[in-house]
Amino acid sequence: MISIIGAGPAGITAAETIRKLTDEEITIFSAEKAPPYNPAVLTTYLKTSTQDVFWKGKDVFERLKLDARVGESVRKLETKSNTIHTDRGEYTYEKLIIASGSRLYAPLKGLNYPNIYNFKSITQVEKLKEILGRGKKAIIIGAGFQGTEIALILNELGVDVTLIEATNRIMPDRLDKKTSAFIERVMEEKGVKIVFNKPGKEFEGNGICRAVITEDGEVFEGDFFIAATGMIPNIEFCRGEIETRKGIIVDDFMRTSAENIFACGDVCETKNRITGERRIFANFWNAVRQGKVAALNLLGFEVKYEGSDVINSLKKLGFHFVIAGELKGDYEEIQAKGNYWRFYIEEGRLKGYILIGDVSNAGLLFRLMISGHDISRFLGRLHRLREHEVPGFN
Ligand SMILES: Cc1cc2nc3c(=O)[nH]c(=O)nc-3n(C[C@H](O)[C@H](O)[C@H](O)COP(=O)(O)OP(=O)(O)OC[C@H]3O[C@@H](n4cnc5c(N)ncnc54)[C@H](O)[C@@H]3O)c2cc1C
Repeated sequence: MISIIGAGPAGITAAETIRKLTDEEITIFSAEKAPPYNPAVLTTYLKTSTQDVFWKGKDVFERLKLDARVGESVRKLETKSNTIHTDRGEYTYEKLIIASGSRLYAPLKGLNYPNIYNFKSITQVEKLKEILGRGKKAIIIGAGFQGTEIALILNELGVDVTLIEATNRIMPDRLDKKTSAFIERVMEEKGVKIVFNKPGKEFEGNGICRAVITEDGEVFEGDFFIAATGMIPNIEFCRGEIETRKGIIVDDFMRTSAENIFACGDVCETKNRITGERRIFANFWNAVRQGKVAALNLLGFEVKYEGSDVINSLKKLGFHFVIAGELKGDYEEIQAKGNYWRFYIEEGRLKGYILIGDVSNAGLLFRLMISGHDISRFLGRLHRLREHEVPGFN
């Protein structure tokens, strides 16, 4: 009997892959009551209620003939006895895939007020939809990729948005001040207020949250609040049973330290395809690829995971913005006709890039980057990449 913990992109992909190859019984535990959804679409879902969020269809559990334990949360895993303890009962497994993903990590006090939301679950987004209204005042804490995207979508919905960030820039773990400034300018033109160098300390209120207070004592009042301060993997139920660091440790075949247990997605630490560094690479396509590889290896195929990619594209800015790979060390930059391109090249290999404006070569660059080919002789051509005028951006 095969069990899967988590029906996010990684878990449901693993289930689908297994079902294509065998009729064996598959039990899938999903803590959330909703059908499997794609969290990367949640910001769009907030605005449009797009059903694309249910990317495998609402009937996926039935279609794949899964024994779906919906709304049932795994509390403890015992590897010696192959037992899964949930909030409703006990189950034994022969083979297991852990795909329990991640949840919000927020180091601020007072997180439990009902008008503090996050985008780590569709239930939270549904609740936020109910209270949204033009002119309401939202305070978002954290200007990482998610906080920035949420700020832009709320702004489109007519909400008065203030984005508070602990460091001096947007997406601080990826961008420097120069590239952050491109985004800041456009966001501010749209009416998003951005406050830098203000680490949030606590949420304050009475019954409902009234304000967030920063470490230097400044008070930011709002009607509702969004915590976008990071994520933490859901590993508590298996701690001590399998090897973990920040996330679950897996090898290149998505095998954990315990026999017949595999892991995939945001819950585990994998290898960066380019640098070989091992950590969590939280990204939809990594989760899907890992889900497939974990499933195939569980079934006995020897399939090696090629490694994780680091790639983000920010929507809703009014121009294209794509960042990929390692954005560290020396770089070459081209700024012309409303476009900004930056390339990180080490010993002739493209390690990372930032494309703002014309991103039509993003696919080609991505392939060049992951192929690891020496691109020295193409560098001249790189400089001659097409330059387009981009409306609303120069
Ligand atoms: C707002 C937002 C925007 C994003 N935008 C992008 C984007 O533009 N591009 C991109 O590539 N990626 C994006 N991501 C990241 C991407 O969505 C994640 O990397 C991906 O969802 C990881 O999939 P997963 O299945 O590993 O984990 P999750 O999506 O976290 O799913 C894990 C599932 O397991 C369940 N679970 C957890 N613990 C238990 C338990 N104990 N018992 C039973 N069930 C459990 C959870 O309820 C959850 O449904 C975004 C994420 C968010 C939140």
